[in-house]
Parts: sequence; C-alpha cells; structure tokens
Amino acid sequence: KRKPLVAGNWKMNFDHIEATYFVQKLSWLLRDSRFDYRRCEVALFPSFTSLRSVQVLVEADKLHIGYGAQSVSVINQGAFTGDISADMIAHLGCSYVIIGHSERRKYHPEDDANIVDQVRATLAAGMRPILCVGESFEERRQGIELDFAVGQVRDVTRDLNEDEAAKLIVAYEPVWAIGTGMVATPDSAQDAAQAIRADLRKTFNEHVANSVRILYGGSVTSKNAAELIEEPDVDGFLVGGASLDANEFASICRIA
Ligand code: 13P
Repeated sequence: KRKPLVAGNWKMNFDHIEATYFVQKLSWLLRDSRFDYRRCEVALFPSFTSLRSVQVLVEADKLHIGYGAQSVSVINQGAFTGDISADMIAHLGCSYVIIGHSERRKYHPEDDANIVDQVRATLAAGMRPILCVGESFEERRQGIELDFAVGQVRDVTRDLNEDEAAKLIVAYEPVWAIGTGMVATPDSAQDAAQAIRADLRKTFNEHVANSVRILYGGSVTSKNAAELIEEPDVDGFLVGGASLDANEFASICRIA
C-alpha cells in the first residue's frame, strides 16, 4: 500500500503565534509516542500569514512535519493585488497545495479551468497538488456521487501528462460530510476512492493509479479514522475541525 498522508487543513484558523505553538505541541506529542514519520507522512495547511513562521520552526528544529498552502494563484507574477504565486509558496518550503476545496469552489470563482491552472502552477513550482473533489448531498440523493467525483478528477487530469498525473494527491471530500459530523461510511469512502483509482488506471496506466494517494476528508476524527484507513484505496485523511486540536490530530496520525 502507498505511504499514508494525514493532512490538517486549518482553513481560516490560527494566527502565526498559535500556528507556531501548535506545531511545537504536535511534534512533542508525536515524538513522545515514538511516531514513525517514515511510515506515515504528516502535513499541516496554515494560512498564508503563518507559513513563514512554520517554515522557520520546522527548519530550526529539523521537524519531519510537512506543510503547504490552501490555494494558489494561477499566475506567476505581476499586477494581481492580493494573490500569492506558486513560487512564493515553494520558496517557503511548502511541499503541497490544497486545490479546489469545496469552500473555494463555493466562495471564490474557482471553476475547472482555474483549478487545472492551479494544479499546473503547483507542479511547475515543484510541489504536489492535493486536488479536492466530492459530491454534494443532491448528487448523492440522485445516486450519481461516484460519476460526479470521478468526473471532477477527470476534468483536471485530461490536461495532464502521465508524469504530472502521478504526482497528484486526490482528496475525496463529500460536501455533505464537511464540518457536519456526518462522516462517510468506510464502504462509501472506499467506493469513491476505488472508482477514482480505476478511472486513473483507464485514463493513464497502472503506475499512475498505484502512485496517486487518495485521501478521505469530511468529519474525520480519532473515533472514525481506524475503520476508514483499513479500506484498501483510502491512503490517509484531509482533516478539518479535528486538526485544530493537537491531541486529537496526533491521535489520527497514530491511527493512520
Ligand atoms: P472537517 O474535518 O471539519 O469536516 O473538514 C473537512 C475538510 O474540509 C478538510 O479539508
């Protein structure tokens, strides 16, 4: 199986002082429980304003915790007030960028074309995109949730070559499960992850299908993580609310 990744999406929480405190606490908790970073990757997604502080701490203390940004501009530089480029993010030591989160699709004009460009910009800067997909309650009610999630992945991968696609990480996050306490059943998380992987195999090949890690996101806690991670196609988690508590997040890391 692929090396699991537990990613904490802090969304718009924690200033840089709280972020620094959290990273220190998490690294102590994991060290005290002899956490094996070679077996499972851990990454945090602070606000842009905290990335530099997290970088300084991670480098000074030689921590094995990865980090990344929650979105990125599709343009590399120029007159784009308020935007942050992939190079700027990469120069802060980021390894990942979350792209196409349902909150960004909803509150910002992030359509498929924009999401493809963010993926390209992220890859060009040497980082890995975490592409978020997942149906809303309406698509699930209609029974088209698998086609919907697979289609969202395909909308992006159709513009990528094999090497680029192999670097993707996909986060299956059903919108109805985000922040609601209504976690997907292990079976439905597996069904979606399996369908996405099967489509990658069809579009590309076995190598791409086996390389891409597929995370589950949506109301993940230390209570439900164990049964989800047992599913063969679930390669880790994208954690929202539960990533704001260091003890809880450390527990999820240990379970994965
Ligand atoms: P919750 O874990 O709070 O449901 O959020 C999931 C999420 O959106 C992670 O990106």
